[in-house]
Parts: sequence; C-alpha cells; structure tokens
Amino acid sequence: MCGIVAYVGGREAYPVILKGLKRLEYRGYDSSGVALLSDGLVVHKRKGRVSVLEEELTGRDLRSPIGIGHTRWATHGEPSDRNAHPHVSRVGRLAMVHNGIIENYVQLRQELAGKGYSFRSDTDTEVLLHFIEDIRDHNGCTLEEALRIALRRVVGAYVIVILDADNPDTLLAARKGSPLVIGIGRGEHFLASDASPIVEYTQQVVYVNDHELAIVRPDELILKNLGNERVTPWVQSLDMELAAIEKEGYEHFMLKEVFEQPRSIRDCLRGRLDMTEGRIHLRGVEEHIDRLKETQRIILLGCGTSWHAGLVAEYVFEQICRVPVEVEYASEFRYRDPVVRSGDVVIAISQSGETADTLVAIERAKEQGALILGVLNVVGSSIARLSHAGAYTHAGPEIGVASTKAFTAQLTVLIMMALRIAEARGTIGRDRHLRLLQELDAIPEKAQALLADTSAVRRVAARWARARDMLFLGRGPGFPVALEGALKLKEISYIHAEGYPAAEMKHGPIALVEEGLPVVFVATRDAFHEKLISNMQEIRARRGSVIAVVTEGDTLVPGLADEVLEVPACDPLLAPILAVIPLQLLAYHIGVEKGLDVDKPRNLAKSVTVE
Ligand code: GLU
Repeated sequence: MCGIVAYVGGREAYPVILKGLKRLEYRGYDSSGVALLSDGLVVHKRKGRVSVLEEELTGRDLRSPIGIGHTRWATHGEPSDRNAHPHVSRVGRLAMVHNGIIENYVQLRQELAGKGYSFRSDTDTEVLLHFIEDIRDHNGCTLEEALRIALRRVVGAYVIVILDADNPDTLLAARKGSPLVIGIGRGEHFLASDASPIVEYTQQVVYVNDHELAIVRPDELILKNLGNERVTPWVQSLDMELAAIEKEGYEHFMLKEVFEQPRSIRDCLRGRLDMTEGRIHLRGVEEHIDRLKETQRIILLGCGTSWHAGLVAEYVFEQICRVPVEVEYASEFRYRDPVVRSGDVVIAISQSGETADTLVAIERAKEQGALILGVLNVVGSSIARLSHAGAYTHAGPEIGVASTKAFTAQLTVLIMMALRIAEARGTIGRDRHLRLLQELDAIPEKAQALLADTSAVRRVAARWARARDMLFLGRGPGFPVALEGALKLKEISYIHAEGYPAAEMKHGPIALVEEGLPVVFVATRDAFHEKLISNMQEIRARRGSVIAVVTEGDTLVPGLADEVLEVPACDPLLAPILAVIPLQLLAYHIGVEKGLDVDKPRNLAKSVTVE
C-alpha cells in the first residue's frame, strides 16, 4: 500500500525515483509525486498514475543528486493533487513523504492551528510535517532532534522520509509499523518501501526496524533509536533477481504469476519435502516441535486471501493433527480482547509480512504468551521479525495485486507444517503420511499439466464476462476455494460475487438464483461429491447456469453442468491447491475481456499497511 522511493548519491535522482515508483505501482495507489533539489526545493505531484506525472515532467530540467518520491493510497483526504505527497513545510524548506496513518493527527492539527498554522491539504502527513518543523523552530534544535521528539508523541504507523533544502546531502527517515528498506551502493543509497526499486542497483540492503531513525548520506548510513543511541545496521543480501519483478513476455503480472505456480510450489517444497527419508523438514517448526506437539489450540490469522489459506488449513490441521483450530480475520481478532493461553500457537499468514492488522494481532497474542509462527512471502518483513519462527513461502515477488502464487504457496507451507506436526503428535498413520508426501510431491507437475491447456476457462470467461453476479459454492476444503474464487472475481473483474458453503445455499442465497445466474461449483472428487451434485441439481432446477471445477475423468458432473473445468486428481486435502487455479484464470480472463487493468484493480493495495 503506497510506495516510497528516495535516493541520495552520484546519479540523477529523478530517473531512479521515477523507475522505482513504477516498480511499486503494484502496491496500489491513487496519486504520485516527487521532491528534488534542482533549483532549490521543487515538488511535483499529481492525482492518477505515475505516467501522468512523468508526462508532465518530460523535458524539464530536474537534475538533482537527491530526492524523494511517493505513490499515495489515500487514507486522509480524497485522492487529489493537493493531497498527494510530498508535502512541504510552512517555511518551505522541508518536503516529506509518508506511508501510514497518524492516528492522533486531529489533536496535533488543533494544537498547530492554535499556533497559527494553516493547512494546504487534508492529510495527516502535512500535520506531522508542520509538527516536526514547529518543534525544530521552537526549540532551536536540529531537524533530527525535532523528528525524535515528534515521533515520541505520534500515535500511528508510518514510514517517513524528509528532504531538507538546508541539508542537501542528507535524507532523514523513520519507521514504525510500515516497511522501509535501504539499499547500499557505492557512494549512494536507495530507500524504498520494498526491495523491488533497489534490486537493479544493489543486492546489499538494510531493513530498518520500528522506532529507528535513519540518517542517510551518499557515503554514510547511520541508524539510531529514538533515544539517540546508534544502532548497528544489519546488512543483508537480497535474494531477488530482476527478472522476478518483470513481466517476461506475459501480458500481465497476474497471468505470469498464475503460470509460475508449478515452479513456485516446487520452490516452496524444495529442501523441505524429503522424499528419500519420507519426511518434512521445516526449521521453524522443528525449533518448536515440543510445544507444537503439546498444543491444545492453533489459531490461524490472516486477511483476504491469506484468511482463505487459513480456512483450508483448518481442515488439514484438524483432520491430521487432531487439534482444535480457529481461523480468524486478524482485524477482528485484534480488537476482540481474545482469550489466548500460553500453550496456544498462532500462525500468522501474510504475503507481504507487513499486513497491519495481522502485525498488531500477533503482537497481542505474543504478549499473552502464544507461540507465533509466520507463513510469509517477503523475507525480513515486519511479521517475520516479530514471529518466534515460521516458514517462508518462497513464491518470489508477487506483483499482481490479486494474490495467486502466494496463495498456493501458503497452502503448500501450511500443509507441510500440518504434516510435520501430525507426525510429531502421532495423529497420522505412517502410510497416510507417506501417501500425502507423495501426493504433495506430485502437485507441481499436476499444476503444470492443468496449465497446459486453458482453452476451457477462456471459453467460460468469454461466455460470462458480462454477468452481473456470480455465486461460488463448495464443501469441505472446497468451500474456502469457493470464497477465494469469488474474491478473485470481485477484485479483478468488479463482478459482484459471493462464496458460500454449498449446504448453506438453502439458508438464503438460493433466493438469488434465477435464469442464467452463473454458479461456480468447486466439485473436485471427495467424500462430499454426491451431496454437491444434489446442490447442482437444485441450481439447475431454478435455471441457473452451472460451471464446475471437477476432477479429470468425472463422469457425473459433465452431464449436469453448462461448462466443466478439469483439474488433475489428487488427495482431497491437497485439491484446493489445484482447484483454485482455474478460478484465478477465470477472474483474470473476465477482467481482460472487460478491458480492465487486472494488475492494478481500482481501490486495492497490494500490501495493506494500514488497518
Ligand atoms: N495517511 C497519508 C495520506 O492519506 C498517507 C497514505 C499512504 O500511506 O499513502 O495521505
């Protein structure tokens, strides 16, 4: 959500920032802007795409060895030129970009208004900038000191970067709750919300921690805590290739990422699924295996697609680990004053590892003594650092806003965790364990086979692209897949879609069924297959259209459904990994049919760093 890019060093800052902002576009935003020191402090900002700003600035002399850039995802004040970042201080010598929310901004704004400040925007960001400047001018201290004082009073989440025209070789940055990465080059530094704008220049990075301040010059990076003590920067090497964040011939990132799944699932299994020994090796799980063996409760936390991954995992954990599982929206959990006991295990699921609600939810659970495991895609992310242990999904950077390969990798990791824990608890027989390992090992190939021919899903997409509503139904582990299918469709094609357990249909949603309403069934073969077929009959009896995801070779459903989308056979516990793929493609192709920007759906952000 929102992006920050800043640069200081020997290059021209503007092209670096512009390219970086484009790399961050996937995170979702509504306006963009830059501040540079070309001829004094210059700020340009515009509502809309980065390309709008770029066009406007073409041909201008913007030479500057330092600068800050921002893509805004509005929280305070509508998307507009005026509210776009960078914001400029009253005296006009400071420019600031901010990602996050200043929760006590109303109070700060009133205080400042009382001192005669006026505001050019509706943002919380501008308030914070004036507040910092006011402290500096009032106390006659340095900007750095003023920032430290200000941040001690600020409630909320932020990454901020400040450009000071009176200190033209220094950027000041700080973070709490939102991500900030600093890339270290030769005589230059790159600051960004994630590593994607940095990877083409350097592989050496520092992840700034919460409550830290960074003072960044071409040749120097100083980190301090809010008590003005120096902190040693921990320099890490990025494990990311440039190709991973480019489209490589695909029309959209989303399509590329759907097609990457055979590989990303394989990458996720690599080194963990050991077929020679017939075992799962997950270091994070191993470190805490005694606690996991004894636990009386597992709580899975996530938002959006990650919550769906948790729902699938609930079936797996309960079935093979015989442990009670709760799956919670992190946003609800955190505010519910939940009862967490010290023996509980909380598994936090998040692609970005920065999801604000999940982050706070695990902080609460950790305080109450739970063991926190992370299932995350972004290495070094905030949730990773807060968790006791975990297992990365290793899906590679996911740029398309609608999650695809991160979801299937989350499922893969969660299933591996469940298998290892079940083995330790003695709740799974040797044969079943081995069979599931073999089945898991075969999933990448089956995903590959499934993706070899996508003509059926394209046909379905063309036929129903103009639908106004769609229902998605499933049972057992197929139910969360139905939820995920509905979510993908909403996100990418803006078609109203609802996911339901198939058996719930009679308790309400069946009232919506009328001639031609497309109803998508997740109908892969499992113990509920016949019951699901009855549900299909009920839809047909009301003249709804049936689209069914089925196991290859199914002989019952094709006679009933208007269209079938086949997936290879596998164990029902693993079927969600395959069954979701046609639904991802369905949403994608409908979005494309409708001429929509599938990689950047309206109003959505990739990494939801505000609550
Ligand atoms: N709260 C700030 C605003 O509304 C920053 C939002 C963002 O993270 O982009 O301008």
